[in-house]
Amino acid sequence: MVKLICLRDIGKHYGGEGGRPRTDVLCGIDLEIEAGEFIAIVGASGSGKSTLMNILGCLDRPSSGQYLFNGKDVATLNSDQLAELRRETFGFVFQAYHLIPTESARENVEIPALYAGVSETARQARATDLLKRLGLADRLDNSPSQLSGGQQQRVSIARALMNGGQVILADEPTGALDKETGESVMALLVDLAAGGHTVILITHDHQLAKQAQRVIHIQDGKIVGDKHSLSADYSQHSTLVSVQEHDNSRPPLTKTTHNHRNRLPREELRNAWRVLRINRARTLLTLLGIIIGVASVIVMLAVGEGTKREVMTQLNAMGPNMLHVGSTTPKAGGPRGVITEADLDAIARMPEVLRVMPMLRDTALVRRGAISRNYEVRATTAVLPAMNRWPIALGRFYTEEEDSNVAPVVVLGHLAYQRFFPDKSDPLGQQILIKNAPYQIIGVMSEKGSDSGYSNHDERLYVPRRTGMVRVFPAQRNDTYLIAEAVSSHLLQQAEKKLQGLLQERHGVDDFWVNNAAARHQAELTTRNNMTLMLALIAAISLLVGGIGVMNVMLMTVRERVREIGIRMANGARQRDILRQFITEAALVSLLGSVIGAIFSQVIIVILALIGVPVAFSLSAVVAAMVCAVTTGLMFGLMPARQAARLDPVAALAGE
Ligand code: ADP
Ligand code: MG
Repeated sequence: MVKLICLRDIGKHYGGEGGRPRTDVLCGIDLEIEAGEFIAIVGASGSGKSTLMNILGCLDRPSSGQYLFNGKDVATLNSDQLAELRRETFGFVFQAYHLIPTESARENVEIPALYAGVSETARQARATDLLKRLGLADRLDNSPSQLSGGQQQRVSIARALMNGGQVILADEPTGALDKETGESVMALLVDLAAGGHTVILITHDHQLAKQAQRVIHIQDGKIVGDKHSLSADYSQHSTLVSVQEHDNSRPPLTKTTHNHRNRLPREELRNAWRVLRINRARTLLTLLGIIIGVASVIVMLAVGEGTKREVMTQLNAMGPNMLHVGSTTPKAGGPRGVITEADLDAIARMPEVLRVMPMLRDTALVRRGAISRNYEVRATTAVLPAMNRWPIALGRFYTEEEDSNVAPVVVLGHLAYQRFFPDKSDPLGQQILIKNAPYQIIGVMSEKGSDSGYSNHDERLYVPRRTGMVRVFPAQRNDTYLIAEAVSSHLLQQAEKKLQGLLQERHGVDDFWVNNAAARHQAELTTRNNMTLMLALIAAISLLVGGIGVMNVMLMTVRERVREIGIRMANGARQRDILRQFITEAALVSLLGSVIGAIFSQVIIVILALIGVPVAFSLSAVVAAMVCAVTTGLMFGLMPARQAARLDPVAALAGE
């Protein structure tokens, strides 16, 4: 018959390479253990008992020799298969209990079943049942620190039994307990042995060892004695036999529901949330880094986009290729210049110029019925709607013919219409008085809004140019101002230079100005674009810093929780389970940070909008910032998570 455990010439040494002194801890251990045996391994401190137990429990690999478990060479198993073997077969009871301090008694007991993929309800029911049978019915929700040593050791025994505990490995289980409590724990082990479990008790105490069926003496890493004790009699212990499932009709707890994909994430999320809550201050600081990063990226993009749109609107409002030309007094002194009709013709003939729009402007008293008010009146040619890309809302604009005929017609700006027609009645064909002379309303412009700094287009009245010159402003012919549209934006600059040269030549003095507003706006647009880019870059760096914060915190938690990782591994967690646990933590903290950051950014954007800063909301910026934050968080969290997953179970348990 195949023996449960068969060790052949097992050796274990530390060091030996790289100049470090070699310590042989185990030398030539041959040992066979049958299923159901109750064995005590006794020896002085430092004789290699724990080392042997770690090898037996597949927490550690021997340096030499062969370990057959159920006839299978353990050396052929990979780390996942070893984890499965530990999970399904072994139950560990340590001198230091090795419970996870942040989890309750019941949750600690559930761990082996958690990694076996047992459903939550089944897991909780079984853990509760085990703890009840071990006399801890009223301690289910207490954390280990709220339990006495004896109670903690009972919890760890319950955990060892969670997946069946076919082989119980107990390393000095009573070492940290007083005599009485120690005896009760021993009684439990004896019960388990009587119930059919294979129990391997490790102790330095010969009296304790005597309670086992078989006592193996170990000294300096060698077996020096192997006695079957005849005095061991378990008949008096039978109180806890029920801990073992005798009822074969009941399906085995594990292997029934290997459904990791569905159940673990929720468990991991809950654990991650708990870890974040326990280390509240640290979590807040990490969150702060991510929140600032995400919020600043979103706000910078919103402000950048907002100002860009504003400049674009202004640019579109005035038309893209416009040169503004007006007269002024020369710097050197002398009379104010006049832009004459001849000047206008010369400019209009320039090949770079598509069309010109001369304009007279001044305020005049405008009256209709009881409503009277000073308004800016503009007298210009019929090209205005086309040149300003400004459609008519109602009626029509005046024609060239009306212009040359000095027709007394007027087109109202949108706000002027609202002012004089508060009842919104039909204005077409109605009369309005400008400087007490009647004009017929033939149209209303659509709403345009104001461009940078100038008065509102919508609060003006428009009359034909000649009507203005002859009827409205007969005394002000000199104050002509004009807008010239270049053939294309490429020729704008050239047109500006030529126009300047032309007027200089014709006037002989510097009594005019040429304003290339479009170029100014274009330049502004470029500057703003560069600024947005720079701000976004700074914000992205702060996002990166947030990611590094995640890594920093994760590295700290890994270091702090080495023992916890060891405990999880001893109870069957695979490397990928540990990896997932830590990645979940990184993901949770960065997701939380980016959600709060996104909300925070919207608050800032609303505040900015209220104080008049141009901002533009963009969902894609929000999504992009959040995706970036979570990605950097995960990227930086991956390294510590891998470090955690690659820990050696024995070293991790020792808390190194
Ligand atoms: P016991 O459990 O019987 O007290 P251990 O198995 O813990 O003894 O240790 C046996 C010997 O192995 C001790 O002398 C100890 O110093 C040594 N030892 C254990 N672990 C290591 C290690 N990681 N590196 C070097 N020596 C070790
Ligand atoms: Mg030891």
